[in-house]
Amino acid sequence: MKIDLSNLKDMGSRKIIKKEIELPDFNFRHQEIETPFPFQLNLDIYSTRDSFILTGDLSGELVLTCSRCLEKFNQDIDIKLEEEILKSEIEDPDHFDLTDIFIENILLAIPIKPICSEDCKGLCPVCGQNLNEDECDCDQEIIDPRLAKLREFFDEDD
Ligand SMILES: [Zn+2]
Ligand SMILES: [Zn+2]
Repeated sequence: MKIDLSNLKDMGSRKIIKKEIELPDFNFRHQEIETPFPFQLNLDIYSTRDSFILTGDLSGELVLTCSRCLEKFNQDIDIKLEEEILKSEIEDPDHFDLTDIFIENILLAIPIKPICSEDCKGLCPVCGQNLNEDECDCDQEIIDPRLAKLREFFDEDD
């Protein structure tokens, strides 16, 4: 999303933006984050002598992949924005792009291991069945390799 800051050069000028915006899909820690729904943006831009102060909030829904069952699910987000952009660092004030700022702020709100629900049962480690949808007949006892060695040792002793 690009905005025109050229009419806000004077110190003390202010602009309030309330609109629906779209953001591109992006990647985060090898996860693909989808953004098929519009976001609601409330942004207050205030011009100081050397910078623009951006405050506001961004809310909407992301599509994440559950780290347990690998199914996609929708996650609400509601982010507070607080950024300062130095005027000296703005190359093109007529078309200043806020997309990266929004995405960086969204990244901070995404859990490292997203889960679709607290009680997601995940996938069977043996056959890969999604255990939220159906059960399977696998023996799901996961044997720690170190314990397995110990068990062998005792078996030999018998
Ligand atoms: Zn899940
Ligand atoms: Zn199974």
